[in-house]
Amino acid sequence: MISDHDPIVAIATAPGRGGIGVVRVSSPARLDALIEAIAGRQLTPRHAHYLPFKDADGVLIDEGIALAFPAPHSYTGEHVVEFQGHGGPVVLRRLLARCLEAGREQGIRLAEPGEFTRRAFLNDRMDLAQAEAVADLIDASSEAAARSAAASMTGAFSDQVTGLADRIVHLRMLVEATLDFPEEEIEFLEKYQARSVLDAIASDLSHLLAQARQGAILREGLHVVLAGQPNVGKSSLLNALAGFEAAIVTPIAGTTRDKVVQQITIEGVPLHIVDTAGLRETTDTVEQIGIARTWTEIEQADVILHLLDATQPQPELDAAITSRLPARTPVLEIVNKMDLVDGGNDGAGAGGNAGAEADAGAGAGADADADADADADADADAGGSQRAARVSAETRVAGHPAKRLGISALTGEGLDTLRQELLAIAGWNPSGESPYLARERHIQALLQAADHLDIAGEHAALSDRVLDLFAEELRLAHGALTSITGEFTSDDLLGVIFSRFCIGK
Ligand code: GDP
Repeated sequence: MISDHDPIVAIATAPGRGGIGVVRVSSPARLDALIEAIAGRQLTPRHAHYLPFKDADGVLIDEGIALAFPAPHSYTGEHVVEFQGHGGPVVLRRLLARCLEAGREQGIRLAEPGEFTRRAFLNDRMDLAQAEAVADLIDASSEAAARSAAASMTGAFSDQVTGLADRIVHLRMLVEATLDFPEEEIEFLEKYQARSVLDAIASDLSHLLAQARQGAILREGLHVVLAGQPNVGKSSLLNALAGFEAAIVTPIAGTTRDKVVQQITIEGVPLHIVDTAGLRETTDTVEQIGIARTWTEIEQADVILHLLDATQPQPELDAAITSRLPARTPVLEIVNKMDLVDGGNDGAGAGGNAGAEADAGAGAGADADADADADADADADAGGSQRAARVSAETRVAGHPAKRLGISALTGEGLDTLRQELLAIAGWNPSGESPYLARERHIQALLQAADHLDIAGEHAALSDRVLDLFAEELRLAHGALTSITGEFTSDDLLGVIFSRFCIGK
């Protein structure tokens, strides 16, 4: 178990060569001795000093900028000093070794990954969601993700969460007060319009949840699995979406025996497209293993693209596949090779299917309601329900097939529509408010809070109101929300969160 009281040091800049490299030290105790030893003088707080950095024998290691940030006005809230030298691996290693040597008496050690940010959290310089956003900003793989991470880092997401938590606390106070003065109880809910206050909180919470879902898609990417019989054009579609030959395309059925994953972005949204072994009866052992893996991928998909061949309709075989697709995952039926069909996309497509974009009967959105969230939790299986929670409730309860699109992986026909459909199915709304970069953890906490508010609402609706149960659900909803910002968070969770940072941050 590492101590949060040791002075720590790390190279804060990326490994490799660069114009500048930074070695950063943080310590609960003042760092005067270390600074004096390396820079040869004391530093004015928050002033840039251009100085020689020397080793124990007075030999020059580098010349650079030294900056001191005394507690509490620093990134970590502790005493921090930064030595900014030239960004070469050897010079930075020497500077790091010099810090370890000069701080030995104070018990200095190398920082763990994320330990500077962990201290910033422990010293109330930022809450947990903000600390996570720091890592997400560093890891952002698209401009949209970086923008959203920056918004979360400055506290925009935390403010929303805290605002909701405060409103719940306020309502709880009123309920608890009423519990303490039972003669008032009967009138309580009417008097304080508790029900409408609760409904307003629940409605704002579901708005925040929708934004968080978008943020989670931005962060984690959407897992899109291409499934279908051999030779329908799965690998060709993967290549067409990727814009290059990521998978091998041949007219020989059974070419793709293991999955091929390709990352692409559509309007800044990352997608992990998984090409799988074609689904068919086979005696080939290797192919059978590939097919088993395909079903595993399908189980874990956020979205399934079920490919059909417009020239070779095989409705029974496709129906057999459809019947095995998980009910809660959105499915797009993609009728490929439309270039070979008379009339292209005007034609009916495979097996007399209604043309492109025919809605698959009832379903889509019509009977979507908030229960979808509870359902997704209920059938929790490895990762599946967690990811399903990212996709909007409406698309999940729609069942499948959600829609049928005609495309040609060869000519590119219909691919733009497919891209837009993928974004829509992900609940992505480009003209919506800029989302915060949220994590699965946040979404699960928001879902929990929403569930407790729902139950609280049921108690409030009963004629013989059960105020203490109402209060208890509010307390649980509040607890779920504050776990996002880290007011009450176990050490184990902190360990997991910060260990995923890079060293020096
Ligand atoms: P997979 O087994 O489902 O991955 O199918 P492939 O992508 O390997 O394609 C099988 C065959 O169909 C190859 O010969 C492709 O060139 C051909 N093909 C795939 N998509 C199209 C398309 O849209 N139009 C035409 N004309 N041929 C296609």
